[in-house]
Amino acid sequence: MTNDILKFKEVWKTYGADKTKITALKGINLELKKNSLNLILGPSGSGKTTILNLASLLNTPTNGEILINGQNTSKLSKSERSKIRQNKIGIVYQRANLFPYLNLLENTMLPMISKDMNNASKVLNNVGIVEISKFPDEISIEKQQRVALARSMINDPHLIIADEPTGELDKKSTEAVMDLIMQIKSKNTILMLSNNLNLTEYCDELFLIKDGYLQKSKN
Ligand code: ADP
Ligand code: MG
Repeated sequence: MTNDILKFKEVWKTYGADKTKITALKGINLELKKNSLNLILGPSGSGKTTILNLASLLNTPTNGEILINGQNTSKLSKSERSKIRQNKIGIVYQRANLFPYLNLLENTMLPMISKDMNNASKVLNNVGIVEISKFPDEISIEKQQRVALARSMINDPHLIIADEPTGELDKKSTEAVMDLIMQIKSKNTILMLSNNLNLTEYCDELFLIKDGYLQKSKN
């Protein structure tokens, strides 16, 4: 078995055609090792969300290869890609994206393959949420983001990708959520995408992205 959870080999991504063509990623290489916390830091428009969409197999590269646990994903069908996404990848967005009419337990169970209420409430407890029958608007934004993290972990993914996970949080809540992400790291590999320089202190590996070019930073 390979030690590489996620690998990008010379990945290019172009949107549109002709005059409206935008090349969002320009031949990027990326390798994530097991149980590491990786940060891709870059300004708005540099290509971070494009990386999320490719790494979670929601979109496909224009050129290059993406390997997940050593498996080349280039030739997979849409349904095979969805299956990998559901089983192996957890996603967290800037906004917790919880469903307002579902309580916290129901929100956490949404992606679950076998609906196990006890397990879902255990995962919620692990991220510090005990009020599992409350609704999203009854808890703080920080707690909502904790629920989103619980939901991303519910299928025991190999990789958690978080796009600007602290973008809506103040300094204190950012620290609390980052402490939690640090704990999760012992079980999962994490890829964070952000423009927040303060997150560099937490990461094992730092990559910088600018204008579609990615480089590894010496840290
Ligand atoms: P970031 O997340 O770092 O802000 P993105 O990956 O969202 O960057 O965007 C990178 C570049 O690709 C930007 O120039 C953006 O306008 C462009 N882009 C992103 N998604 C699309 C799309 N679906 N269609 C056309 N252009 C896009
Ligand atoms: Mg983005």
